[in-house]
Amino acid sequence: MKIESQLAQIGSVSDSVTGAVSVPIHHATAFRHPRLGQSTGFDYSRSKSPTRSVLEDAIARLESGDAGFACSSGMAALQVVFSLFSQGDHLLVSVDLYGGTYRLLEKVLSRFGISATYVDTNDIDALEANLRPGTKAVLIETPTNPLMKITDLAKVCRWARSRELLSIVDNTLLTPYFQRPIELGADIVVHSASKYLGGHNDVLAGLIVTRHKALSEKIAFLHNSIGAVLGPQDSWLLVRGMKTLALRMERHQQNALRIASWLATHPLVAEVFYPGLETHPGFALQRKQASGNTGIFSFKLKDARLVEPILRHIRLIAFAESLGGVESLMTYPAVQTHADIPEEIRRRVGVDDRLLRYSVGIEHVDDLISDLSQALEAARQEVAGCTETR
Ligand SMILES: *Cc1c(COP(=O)(O)O)cnc(C)c1O
Repeated sequence: MKIESQLAQIGSVSDSVTGAVSVPIHHATAFRHPRLGQSTGFDYSRSKSPTRSVLEDAIARLESGDAGFACSSGMAALQVVFSLFSQGDHLLVSVDLYGGTYRLLEKVLSRFGISATYVDTNDIDALEANLRPGTKAVLIETPTNPLMKITDLAKVCRWARSRELLSIVDNTLLTPYFQRPIELGADIVVHSASKYLGGHNDVLAGLIVTRHKALSEKIAFLHNSIGAVLGPQDSWLLVRGMKTLALRMERHQQNALRIASWLATHPLVAEVFYPGLETHPGFALQRKQASGNTGIFSFKLKDARLVEPILRHIRLIAFAESLGGVESLMTYPAVQTHADIPEEIRRRVGVDDRLLRYSVGIEHVDDLISDLSQALEAARQEVAGCTETR
């Protein structure tokens, strides 16, 4: 079945008793055993729970993996995956990385003796140069957030395998609708399902997909041992959101491309970072390994003083901290999502005080452009005004 059909049909045949086409929400934490030594497959809901199982089986199929695991957030999913590692282990990680993942590695896992080096994961020489005896894995975000750098997944996963490293891909920004890292050689895929998979800015969740059975067993053990699992109500909300993923991603991509192209020629904008633009250095690679583009991009203003008035003047677009929902949100990475990354590193990778990130929603593109247009114009007048009076 094509992915659109798989998505629309998630859970539609899960209740053989009533035939309900929407997956039932099972709140039970305990399940009756038929007799000693027998189980229905469900014992205690931390280990396995029926509504969550429907979601976990669906994401495993969508990502072409062996098994799926639903966690209470994207960070919980990353914590479960990082728990594969032990004291003395070392990871190679994308330099321009989700701020929360950086914080987990630097402020928590470092205390347990697990270290990370931040590199351009598309540069094999840089990866080689940073290998250590304890290096166990490479963690890739592609595109990165917020600067939209692209890593060649097939190339880097092949390299990782040759060095006996696990390859872990955070696929939050593209979702399996546009990119399936396991098909390109990755061992583990993680998602913040709070973003595009959920899609409505109303459920916090994380997902893990494993490539093969041996890894699935290890992750299942950690998932159950740590216990940061997704509850039945949130599992249902996520299934409900995922049914429309194909439609939403198409519209997100279409709107983002239109707005990114418009901003690229705007006189107040210095640069737009969007892999859907032919001028983006990762354009061809992105086209090769993914079937479409995410709905989020970043742009750098010519003057940092424009940031504050723009965020004050946008009306339809909300100044808020997330991405991937049907509603348009704008974020200021330097003070919000990436505030935990030291300023020196942020500036080096380009997340500076002129950068704004825009998660383009599914509203009508004309309304979004006119909102941005009026906010930029109002900001231009205010900033021009303050230079004149100085
Ligand atoms: C949001 C996000 C996370 C963290 O997920 P939560 O669901 O917020 O815990 C991890 N990686 C990426 C790329 C994200 O955007």
